[in-house]
Amino acid sequence: MDTFCEISCYSKDKDRSIAAIDAAFKEMKRIEDIFSKFDEHSEVSRINRLAGIEKVRLTKEVFSLTQDAVYYSQISEGAFDITVAPLMELWKGARKGNSMPDRAELETTLKSVGYKNIELDPDELYITFLNKGTKVDFGGIAKGYAVDRAKDILISKGINKGLINLGGNIFALGSAPGNKNWGIGVYDPREKDKLLYTFRLTNKAISTSGNYERFFEIGGKRYSHIINPVTGEPCMGIVSVTVVSGSAEKADALSTAISVMGEEKGLNLAKAIKDIEVLILKEDGRVISYPLERAGNEL
Ligand code: ADP
Ligand code: MG
Repeated sequence: MDTFCEISCYSKDKDRSIAAIDAAFKEMKRIEDIFSKFDEHSEVSRINRLAGIEKVRLTKEVFSLTQDAVYYSQISEGAFDITVAPLMELWKGARKGNSMPDRAELETTLKSVGYKNIELDPDELYITFLNKGTKVDFGGIAKGYAVDRAKDILISKGINKGLINLGGNIFALGSAPGNKNWGIGVYDPREKDKLLYTFRLTNKAISTSGNYERFFEIGGKRYSHIINPVTGEPCMGIVSVTVVSGSAEKADALSTAISVMGEEKGLNLAKAIKDIEVLILKEDGRVISYPLERAGNEL
């Protein structure tokens, strides 16, 4: 998934921990093989080749994550959208050529972008793209999903204290040994050794999306790898968005969504959903959090 992964487990039985970690890594590798857009044999590559031409039958798993992705598009008013794939390709080309994408090309690409181009048949598990150029990219949700599945594997192997970190998509299982919870720090990207905030979590997921770890440069200027699916432009003004939720998939998708939505709309979404916590770092240095009590606490 083009990132690092760390799993720690705590148990009195070392062999049990090792077996659990091994099984969790295997599960994440399995998921990577399905959702990879780099591997031409992956299920997602098959969808991208065919769904614009004919209906494609999906496995239950891929169908279900696609349904979830569409749900996150709906609640974020299209800010989260797996059909950004053609835009990702466009910007990748721009980065390689070290020049901004051509305006006309951007407009043409935007025509194939939009989750409403995805048609799902839940009875037969078919997917069809209503536009020939539509393609999907699970990069904003698959890591979170993989973390949830890895966490389920750890639990099924008898582990109840552990930490999974897949490129900033974290699940804090139980508590750290000798503690009531796990302390997960969010760094200030401008001052790398300064902790901005510490979340105290137990059995919760936390995900950070930001342009300080993963970004690309054109003409010496930094651009986020999160693209606004409506304008086709990389999202701007926000350094990072951290979301805490019971599900890593949800935290992953919503941290990406809120990066696009920005402060006002993003906070409105958080308020509407209620069961998430959000920390937004703005480029102008401001830190915004939801629920607001957080701000008085530890920031
Ligand atoms: P990270 O990969 O650092 O965890 P995100 O979870 O925010 O960051 O996901 C960014 C990835 O999601 C991009 O590399 C791309 O594959 C995909 N993506 C970019 N913009 C969007 C968007 N608006 N909606 C959904 N997925 C997106
Ligand atoms: Mg994400």
